[in-house]
Amino acid sequence: MSPTDATGDRTAGANPDAPAREPREPSSGREPRRARLSGDPRPGLSGLGDGELEKWLAAAGQPAYRARQIRDAVWRQNASTAAECLTLPAPLRSLIDESFRVDTIAENEIKVADGGLTEKTLHLLSDGALIESVLMHYPARGYAGPGKPLHRERHTLCISSQSGCAVGCPFCATGELGFGRDLETAEIVDQVRHASRRVAATGTHVTNVVFMGMGEPLLNLDRVLESVAILADPRMFGLGARHVVVSTSGVVPGIKRLTALGPQFTLAVSLHAARDPLRDVLVPLNRRWPVAEVVAAAREHARVTGRRVSYEYVMISGVNDTEIDADALARLLRGDLAHVNLIPMNPVAHTPWQASSPERVAEFAARVRRGGVGVTIRANRGQDAGAACGQLAADRAGEPEPSVVAHRRELIVRESETALRGSRSAEELPADLEAAVGTGRVR
Ligand code: SF4
Repeated sequence: MSPTDATGDRTAGANPDAPAREPREPSSGREPRRARLSGDPRPGLSGLGDGELEKWLAAAGQPAYRARQIRDAVWRQNASTAAECLTLPAPLRSLIDESFRVDTIAENEIKVADGGLTEKTLHLLSDGALIESVLMHYPARGYAGPGKPLHRERHTLCISSQSGCAVGCPFCATGELGFGRDLETAEIVDQVRHASRRVAATGTHVTNVVFMGMGEPLLNLDRVLESVAILADPRMFGLGARHVVVSTSGVVPGIKRLTALGPQFTLAVSLHAARDPLRDVLVPLNRRWPVAEVVAAAREHARVTGRRVSYEYVMISGVNDTEIDADALARLLRGDLAHVNLIPMNPVAHTPWQASSPERVAEFAARVRRGGVGVTIRANRGQDAGAACGQLAADRAGEPEPSVVAHRRELIVRESETALRGSRSAEELPADLEAAVGTGRVR
């Protein structure tokens, strides 16, 4: 089945000439997402990059200095309507309203967890698509001298680059939802503006942005790069390159493209397994770009940019947390400019798997460290707010049919047993993923 957007049209970016394919397994069993609101054809104002706003103002016969006033309204005051851009004359406010959406996010549902340290937000976009962001507060800690904490206070926002995801990792609630559509640039950066509005109320600001929410960022790379440029621009959000992380599940041509751009942000690779048979199951994209190719591209990125690569590794009990896996991981990354983050799996309805125990995670970390690779164990944030990627959107979409859940579980068990015996997966790429990576979208 071709991915469709909320209006039922083929999704932007999918190949219109690709032959129709039958799905290799039943759909999620959920009702397809329907637009609750009418799609709004006006572009998002916050997505205008360097020079675009000036060009629009010139075409509208407006003086160039209005660009600064509009940017201040969007980025300093976080305006959500043209009427809130009070430094602008009324006719220009009307013109902006006719031409742009000042805010591309229609509604927010916020859940707070961890005693206020984690805020998970489900955003509803103007066509009914659902995305998520997670704001994590890290208080200052440690002692580096009088009045100087060792680690400064941080407010890290994890944002989405797509609605849903085609990669289909079986431990991920977003993977179960399937692919919805690519986000526009404004829809990406407006997640940051919404969080900024909230933290501004407490006198602080978003200090770090990580592209680790819904979607595979390198399958919407043009818009992700536009977003990074906007977030880094001191006239807009002004976030330093060291404070932005872009993650990928292993889109090798995308990593190479990032490498050619130089050190603009930190690269994170969602690895989750160091052995191909297992990674074929945990990250289906591995069937297209296997572990060795992904790590070779990331290694080259580190060499060219001088920036350490982070490897994310979700710990799943009895699946990828064995001594064999720890040794394979250490062998794979030893000597690289690399660091591993171990993350206990969040429980997800359609998988039979559970998170590794804290003791297992600690043993695994110690073994990888002894193997010569730096490791950090990450705390699992916001479990009481459904912090697993895609979980709130999955809850909103409703329970999948029990027969579909049973089928998924059976397939996952069968595939992982094959993988644990050391055989590569015979499964093809999921149809959505084949459409995304097999059509030249990845450049
Ligand atoms: S873990 Fe990331 S790449 Fe995998 S399905 Fe979820 S969102 Fe997509």
